[in-house]
Amino acid sequence: MLLRCFFAWLVGGAVACALPQADPAEMYAHAMATRYAPYADWQPVVDVDALAVQAAESAYWQTPAAIAAAREATALPLAGLHLALDPGHVGGKWAEAEWRQFRIAANDFYVREGELVLEVAQRVRAHLVELGAEVTLLREANVRVNPKGPVDYLQLAAQQVPAPKEASLAELINYGVALRARAVRLSIVVGDLAARARLVNETIQPDALISLHINAARWPVVVAADEPAKKDTIEPATCHESSSMGTLRLVASNHVHALIFGCMSQRELQSVRQQAQLAVKLSNGSGTAEWRLGAALAEAFALGTGLPASTYGGTNAILLDAQSPYLFARNLMLLRSVECPTVLLEPYVANSVAVYSRIQAALANRATGAALAADDILLEYTDAVVAGVLACYAAE
Ligand SMILES: [Zn+2]
Repeated sequence: MLLRCFFAWLVGGAVACALPQADPAEMYAHAMATRYAPYADWQPVVDVDALAVQAAESAYWQTPAAIAAAREATALPLAGLHLALDPGHVGGKWAEAEWRQFRIAANDFYVREGELVLEVAQRVRAHLVELGAEVTLLREANVRVNPKGPVDYLQLAAQQVPAPKEASLAELINYGVALRARAVRLSIVVGDLAARARLVNETIQPDALISLHINAARWPVVVAADEPAKKDTIEPATCHESSSMGTLRLVASNHVHALIFGCMSQRELQSVRQQAQLAVKLSNGSGTAEWRLGAALAEAFALGTGLPASTYGGTNAILLDAQSPYLFARNLMLLRSVECPTVLLEPYVANSVAVYSRIQAALANRATGAALAADDILLEYTDAVVAGVLACYAAE
């Protein structure tokens, strides 16, 4: 029982009990096998004995327990908490290039994930500040966080895009288009995620980071009227594979989940950089705190939305606890690169029948300046985040 408690503490479980003198190497091994690389042969690349004797660097963030313990009895419920909010993606003029823009009909409002979650972040900040927290947004507008633009990545893009096979005009044009697309993605997706992680680790240094997204399902293949319709392909993992082109058909599925770091694949474990990031996350204790925050947020979303939990097929994510079906571990770049406890939210399926109409209604209200509806989807999202943060950081 004592060993189980210690393992639960290490990997972030909710079991609370006194910590016995367990072997840290054993703890790390258990965490690797159950959370950080449950489907990979990690022993040849992760030396848990070396990690166990290595002194952990002092962390820039504080645990929920430490923040609560330092709070005066008369203070506001979130006093002492410094939270960073990441409105996912960029939106604005980059929304199409980052594949986070779509609409079904020409008269509809564009659904741009980066813009929707920026509004949520601003609303969450207003609530949490009233409750005593300090809140920093990673971006305040629909602009890149990365100071480097696509032109800065042309050389790198040229190393990654195959050269034209022949010197024909058509091939050269294709090459130019591919080069430009690659440079844009390196700037606004990969480069932006790296810039966000740097901003959190080196400048903001909050107690935790919450990354706000809205999920989407893979677009179903539109079939001819005389063909039987295929079942929706649910792919919560991709968080938006959207398009503004062609005929799009909304899906029926709608669900919620939250993600924390874990579930590295065999190939990812071979990367020296990822090994180093894993070592930091494994030894700095953020795994426990982010599990707790992730579980609190997941529960708040389950209650606030009434939606079912997302499911993952395959081995790119793992459900950590059957009692908490909305929380998965996954090896996403932001989750791996940010040293403090980090949770990524993926509520709703933006291209589902139900959510698409709710987003259209929300955008219409904002366009006309009408009062927001009681069931406004962005208000519902905001309330769930606030409830989750309160559940994790207000009470001890
Ligand atoms: Zn997203």
